[in-house]
Amino acid sequence: MAFWEEKTLEQMSPSEWEALCDGCGRCCLIKLEDEDSGVLITSDVRCKLLDGDSCACTDYPNRKKIVPDCIKLSPDNVREIPWIPTTCAYRRIAEGKGLAWWHPLVSGDPQTVIDVGVSVSGRTVLETEVDPDEWEEHAVDWPEWEPPESL
Ligand code: SF4
Ligand code: SF4
Repeated sequence: MAFWEEKTLEQMSPSEWEALCDGCGRCCLIKLEDEDSGVLITSDVRCKLLDGDSCACTDYPNRKKIVPDCIKLSPDNVREIPWIPTTCAYRRIAEGKGLAWWHPLVSGDPQTVIDVGVSVSGRTVLETEVDPDEWEEHAVDWPEWEPPESL
């Protein structure tokens, strides 16, 4: 059995934990809060450290120093943070759904997360290139989209 099928999030080693990320980049999009309802809305504006094509954090070891509100996911907070995408591998494992067929660990190909439309690759604008007053115009719902469980 693969490690994500037999271990809980708490039981995973640091390298297994890191490998679980599908590299979609959805969690690195700027969130906006609706002033009236308090509801968080996702935008297509990406964190200044996110590479828009590869969706990798360009300074992962120092990210907390550069982006203080970057959240380091843990078995506890992944169950509590409401804006974690429903497609996120950590959230799926926490909810007992297992990994989806398009997850690179399952498909064996990092391209499937892009082909299926989960990755934010090529679909975002850089935080430093958008006036914060205009972030609201960048509110989008596509990062909430989920592919079918099978094709
Ligand atoms: S949403 Fe989850 S799977 Fe996607 S990049 Fe973020 S941590 Fe990784
Ligand atoms: S600092 Fe890195 S991991 Fe954190 S939100 Fe930005 S790109 Fe994502």
